[in-house]
This record gives sequence, structure tokens and C-alpha cells, in this order.
Amino acid sequence: MRLFCLALLTLFSLLSSAPVYAQGKQQDKLNVVVSFSILGDLVRSVGGDQVNVTTLVGPGGDAHVYTPTPADAKRVSEAKLVVINGLGFEGWLPRLIKASGGKPSVITASTGIKPRKLADDGHGHGDADPHAWQSVANVRAYVLNIRDALIAADASGVSTYLTNADAYLAELDKLDREVREAVAKLPAERRKVISTHDAFGYFAQAYGIAFIAPQGVSTESEASARDIAAIIRQIKAQKIPAVFLENVADPRLMRRIASETGAAIGGTLYSDSLTDEKGDAPTYIGMVRHNIKALASALTN
Ligand SMILES: [Zn+2]
Repeated sequence: MRLFCLALLTLFSLLSSAPVYAQGKQQDKLNVVVSFSILGDLVRSVGGDQVNVTTLVGPGGDAHVYTPTPADAKRVSEAKLVVINGLGFEGWLPRLIKASGGKPSVITASTGIKPRKLADDGHGHGDADPHAWQSVANVRAYVLNIRDALIAADASGVSTYLTNADAYLAELDKLDREVREAVAKLPAERRKVISTHDAFGYFAQAYGIAFIAPQGVSTESEASARDIAAIIRQIKAQKIPAVFLENVADPRLMRRIASETGAAIGGTLYSDSLTDEKGDAPTYIGMVRHNIKALASALTN
């Protein structure tokens, strides 16, 4: 009987201590805030169980035109590390960090990549194109920057961060090869499409599919009637086979362009945001795979 009581007591103390243990673990994790969903996936892939990742602009959101909330300020104030894309993508972020009153380290994931310069639009906006993640080779640099930032913020996780980063870099190399092989199979004269906003410049540079977009690099500005008319002429003259919708843009403009030109709608490309887990692009790697599959099927014939 005494033995039984002892066993019961041991069991009870094990059970009651379990939640406390889990809570302690949770608090040990490194709090990282990221600006948008693609960075969230990259930081989770490298950080694994060592990090708590909070994404400000979640799946389906548009980081170009985001308005931070008071809850975001609270999240930033609790973060040790904030990871941003940079290249002018998150214009709203410096003010948010200041307003939060926190003192996180701010890491720019795109540091070290070769920025794609934009032509001056006549209003002094001859800046860099922020969508560097659309080239898989650039995301290698993102992952190395994220790995080093996590190590600097949390030395206790160094072996996790090194191991996860290495595994993810190998996945990226495989992905890059997949995209190149898919493009190589397409007839050269069909490697051109229309997308809504100019988000695929790095993809075009890296893989040799031309993208033409009525909207500029930010979704903030609307396409003018003149831009749309010019694109319609270009689709007809160059026999551009397909028009793509984007998850962060209004589909109506593209549907109109498709109906006026006879170009096919090739589906949706994911440019600046992932989907939730049930969608077509829940991870960065899933997003690139979805996009190349959609492009290949629209441009094959
Ligand atoms: Zn964009």
C-alpha cells in the first residue's frame, strides 16, 4: 500500500510539474518578429524549436501598404530580434520599432545581395527592387544572414541553427535546379508572361522568363490607362501567351487584359506573400514550386 501511494505521489508530481516545465521551455525560446510571411517561413526553417516567430504581415497580406496596429508594437517590444527584407519594402517598419519602445536587434535579410536597380520613374523613385526573394540564389543569402543573426542573438542554439541552415540550403539548391530544368523545357519564344505588379524582376533575371506588369514594383500605385493600353498592344504584338493573377493584387485588371487580348489566364502567382497551410503556397519552397508549375503549364503550349 505504501509503495502504491508512493507511486501515485510520484505520478502526481510528474503530472503537475509537466506544464511548468513546458512553460519554462517556452520562455527560453528566442522571440523573433519578422515583417512578412516569407521571412517567417525562413526564420522558422532555420530556428526550428529554438525560436518563437511572430509574423506582422501574415499569409495573403500585402506588406507594401501595411498599416501596423498597437498589437504589432507590443509584439516588437517583446522581441529580441526583428528580421526585415530591406530594399525599401517595409517603409512602415522604422516608425513601428520606434513606437514600440523596445530595443530589438534589427537584421536586414537581403544584405549582401546584388539589388536590381529600377529605372527612375521621373519622380525620383529610381530605387532598388525589393522582391529579391524571387531568385532562389538570393534566398541562400537571406538564410545565411538569418542563421548568423540567430546565433548572435542566442548562442545556446548554435548547433540547431547551423544544422537547420545547412539542410535548408541544400533544399534551396535542389529547388534552384528544378526551376532551371523547368524553364529549359519551355520553347524560348514562349518565355514571357504578364503579371499584375512588377514583383518578378529577380526571377526574370535569374531564370530567363520575361515578366511585363502594368503596375510598378509597389502595389501602392495604380496602373494608368496609358500603361494598360501599352501592355495590351504589347501582348498582341509579341503574342504573349499568358496573363497571371497575383495573390496580393486585385484580379479585375488582369481579367480585363486577358479578355481584350485573348491571352490565357495562367492562374495565380504568389509574389509577396505565402498562403495559409491549406493554400497552394504555405512555405517559401512551396511557393516557388507552385509558381514554376503554373508558368510551365501556361507556357508549354
Ligand atoms: Zn510587391
